This record gives sequence, structure tokens and C-alpha cells, in this order.
Amino acid sequence: MGDYIMGKAKKIALIAHDNRKSALIEWAEENKEMLSKHILCGTGTTASLISEKTGLKVQGFKSGPMGGDQQIGAAIVNGEIDLMVFFWDPLTSQPHDPDVKALLRIAVLYDVAIAMSKSTADFLLSSNKFNEEYERNMIDYYGRIRKDNF
Ligand code: PGA
Repeated sequence: MGDYIMGKAKKIALIAHDNRKSALIEWAEENKEMLSKHILCGTGTTASLISEKTGLKVQGFKSGPMGGDQQIGAAIVNGEIDLMVFFWDPLTSQPHDPDVKALLRIAVLYDVAIAMSKSTADFLLSSNKFNEEYERNMIDYYGRIRKDNF
């Protein structure tokens, strides 16, 4: 099991579908100083565009349609991500829609803080908890299985 205490430096995943990339880049630019104090990663294209346009250091996984969303999901399971800013496109269907759904499921399961729009991302960043330690509230899956079945 990974570590579910968020440290003061948050591990943040940044993802945006193509039509939402400019909005995420703009948000990252606006919040560059704050974000530079945290540990950033993202899906391939989003990560390289944010690095290029803002100068922030963003570790890149594979591109989303090539399995990057699944890699981010695995990183969540490994306790390597505390927060996710995911600007998905509500107006366009995606070839990797099942991966997107799987990522959102795993993020909720692991109580990762998720922002899917600019306003939520702004509220997250301006929270008092953003620069403090925080313990995520995991569902006790194994306890539940035992209670219900054995
Ligand atoms: P990309 O992937 O950053 O590589 O474009 C994003 C996505 O479609 O999930």
C-alpha cells in the first residue's frame, strides 16, 4: 500500500484534452509561482506543453490516448499522486473514453482531490489545506469484503 498522507509539497497530475489544453496552460501560467513549489506530472502532450509555455517542471507520462491516463491511474494506486487537475472536454467524444472513466473511478476510490474545471482548480489552490499535510480518507475495501462475506 502507498502512503496516503499528503505532504506539504503536493504531488499533482495535470491532464487536459486537446480542446481544453489552452485553458489548463493559462491556469498553470496564472498559478506558476504556487505550482512551482509542488511536484508536477501529467499526460505526455499536456506535460510537455505546460513545461514549454510556463517553464514549470512537469514529469510526462505517455500521451493520454496511448495509455497515459492508465499510467496516471497506476501512479494514484501507488500513492504517487495527491491531486489531479483534469480539464476533460465535455463536447467531444474521446477514443480513450474507457481510460478516462477508469481514471476518474480510481481517483475517487483513492480520495484524490480532483478539479475538472477552472473554478474548482482555483478553489483547490486557495484552500488552507493546500500547503498543509492532509490524510486522505480511503474506503476500507478489505474490511468491507470481510464484513460482508466472511
Ligand atoms: P495528452 O493526453 O496530454 O497526451 O494529450 C490527455 C488525454 O487525452 O487524456
